[in-house]
Amino acid sequence: MTSNSYNPYENAQSQFDRVAKIIGLDEPTRVLLRQPMKEYHFTIPVHMDDGSTKVFNGYRIQHNNARGPAKGGIRFHPQETIDTIRALSMWMTWKCAVVDIPLGGGKGGIICDPRNLTENEQERLCRGWIRQLAKDVGPFIDVPAPDVMTNGKHMLWMLDEFELIHGGRFPGFITGKPVGMGGSLGRTEATGYGLIYTVREALKSQGMRIEDTSASIQGFGNVAQYAAKLYSELGGTVAAVSCWDNTDKKAYTFYKKSGLDIAALFGIVDSFGTIDQNKARDLGCEILPEDAWIEQDVDILMPAALENQITLANVGKISKQVLLIAEGANGPINTEADEIIRKSGMFVIPDFLANAGGVTCSYFEQVQSNMNYYWEKDEVMQKLDAQMTSAFKAVREIAKKNNLYMRDAAYVISINRVAQAVKMRGWV
Ligand code: GLU
Repeated sequence: MTSNSYNPYENAQSQFDRVAKIIGLDEPTRVLLRQPMKEYHFTIPVHMDDGSTKVFNGYRIQHNNARGPAKGGIRFHPQETIDTIRALSMWMTWKCAVVDIPLGGGKGGIICDPRNLTENEQERLCRGWIRQLAKDVGPFIDVPAPDVMTNGKHMLWMLDEFELIHGGRFPGFITGKPVGMGGSLGRTEATGYGLIYTVREALKSQGMRIEDTSASIQGFGNVAQYAAKLYSELGGTVAAVSCWDNTDKKAYTFYKKSGLDIAALFGIVDSFGTIDQNKARDLGCEILPEDAWIEQDVDILMPAALENQITLANVGKISKQVLLIAEGANGPINTEADEIIRKSGMFVIPDFLANAGGVTCSYFEQVQSNMNYYWEKDEVMQKLDAQMTSAFKAVREIAKKNNLYMRDAAYVISINRVAQAVKMRGWV
């Protein structure tokens, strides 16, 4: 459910302002960091398969690069807005800083619905996006990655176009590439697994065992799928997942109190994260309305779909049993709902910490691509776990010491790191 008045950029700025005030950030640094450094808005004409030409709108926003090249995904979405990308680029800066990887923040997008585009049209769109930006992105400038409705196939078309323009091979230009074509083992699983590493640590810090908990997950795309997989492999019970059905233009919740068979759901989901309803019924799932995922009597909620999903309209439906919300998506809780959750004392693992596994593994991919030497999967996963675990512990420590909400504590770490970088560079 989304409300039209919601503006994620205002949400991102108000989160930032709140903590900038707490830490007494000086005025120039505050002004510099509360908005993106650079924005590219452009058109992409695409020759469609039926002989017509359609013009799409594309964007890339570089929020900050004081700690390293801008880094962040490219979203394909029909409701994409410039303010959403601004917010997401800002969250990328905080995300890279909280896990302490030497990268800045960026985000891009194209207003389009890839579900209604052929493979060839998607390829031309990807190449068109690169043609407009080829001089403004690059392995040491701005490194894109997959995001909502984009994947390794799109990244490889983009890489190929970039390499055609620049003449050479630059695998470190983009991440999320297919394995064997410069991709890193573990990148596909990284965001979902990273989310569960933080959930595991959060439960540990509350003296709980994953095996004794149950969860409801919003979404069944890349993040949700691998979060559900690892969480259930570690012994947790996934009682519900939800997904968007593009034919019905509605979302549904798939529920099974005793626990969904995640491996079986992997077999009946399409590449956009839509689960086949008939096959799900055969697996014994109940099919419930969209918001049902939020109402379940579970211990953990993992919103892992899109921004602005927990709002004033549904925050009151959260069961009293829920003790932990792990934000797999970026900005899933809007400002007003976050105020209520903050006051309720519920433990929240904030988005830019909880879902930082993707970009952390992207960083590993970039390192491997630049060296042209690739690591074993175990090595990638161990490094990812170590990075996520230590980031979680550092945030938890600050939260405990200063009696702060976890989101604020994560901001304290990130803003301080980025502020220090802009100062050391002599920008402010
Ligand atoms: N799109 C992912 C995110 O929002 C990953 C970005 C990346 O790997 O650069 O964190």
